Amino acid sequence: MKKEELSYNLKYFCQEAGADIVGFAPVERWIEEGIIPLEFRPQGIWSPARTVVVLGLGMPLPIVETTPSVMHMELYKTVNRKLDALAYDVTRHLNRLGHVATFFSRDGYSSLKDLRRWNGAAFGHVQAAKYAGLGTIGRNHCLLTPEFGPRVRLVSIFTAAAPPPDPLVEKELCIKCEACVKCCPKEALRVRDDCIPGDYDKTACLEMAEELTSRRSYPCGICIKVCPVGADRKLYQQKGMMKKYLREREVLVADPDHVDYRSWQHIRRYGVKEP
Ligand code: SF4
Ligand code: SF4
Repeated sequence: MKKEELSYNLKYFCQEAGADIVGFAPVERWIEEGIIPLEFRPQGIWSPARTVVVLGLGMPLPIVETTPSVMHMELYKTVNRKLDALAYDVTRHLNRLGHVATFFSRDGYSSLKDLRRWNGAAFGHVQAAKYAGLGTIGRNHCLLTPEFGPRVRLVSIFTAAAPPPDPLVEKELCIKCEACVKCCPKEALRVRDDCIPGDYDKTACLEMAEELTSRRSYPCGICIKVCPVGADRKLYQQKGMMKKYLREREVLVADPDHVDYRSWQHIRRYGVKEP
C-alpha cells in the first residue's frame, strides 16, 4: 500500500471506529525539538516506532462544567475505556495490514501515590498530539484543539509504518486569557512565557486529585472547563460563561445555592461522599 493510501485507510478506520480527531506524528519531531528526554520518546519506549498515531475523543462541555462531580468522573472513565479500546483496534488493524504496532494506554500509573513518587508519566500524549498536528499546548499545559479546546482525551499508537506526517498547527491556539490560572483552586499554574510543557506545580495539582479521589468525584479539570478555546463552545452557544466561571468559587463560598450555579451544585451534591 502506498503511503497516501495507508494514510487514508488508517484515518478512515479510526474515524469509523469513533475517533473524533486523528493525527500522525513522525518520531523525528521529538528529536528535532529535543525537549523530551530520550527515554520518554517513542523510540526510547519502543525502538521500531517510526510514527505515533494519536487519537482524541471529545468531552461534552455540559458534563465537564459540573466538575467536580460523579458525572464528570464517570465521563472520564467512559472516555478512557473507549480510548484504550480504540488504540487496541487500531493496533490490530495495523497488524492486519502487515505493520508492527503497539500502544501506550491513555494513563500510565497505578495510583496517585505512585504518580506522586515518579512525578509524571512514562509517555506524554499531549506532546505527541502536538507533534501529530492536532493542536498546540496552552497555559494549562493541556493540548488545545480547534474542535474541543482542551476538552479532549488522547491515546497514542506506536507503529513502524510511515504514513505522511500531518502538518503542525502553526498558530498558537492559547489566547493567554489566564482563566485557567485564575480559576485553579491550588494555584498550580504559572504565568511565564518561558514555561515549558509540564512546568507547573504537579504536587499541588496531585493534592487536588487526591482530595477529589477520596470523595469519588475526580478529576479536577477546572483549567480544562474554563478555557474559552474550541468549536464546542459555539456548538453549545453559551454566552457570558467566562464571568460565571471566574466568579464561581467566590459566589459559592457565600451562597452554595446561588441560582447561577444551582444545576451544577445539584449534580455535585447527590451521591457524593462528604469531604
Ligand atoms: S487540574 Fe485543577 S488543580 Fe490541577 S492545574 Fe488544573 S485546575 Fe489546577
Ligand atoms: S484558559 Fe486561556 S490562558 Fe488558559 S489555556 Fe485556555 S486560552 Fe490559554
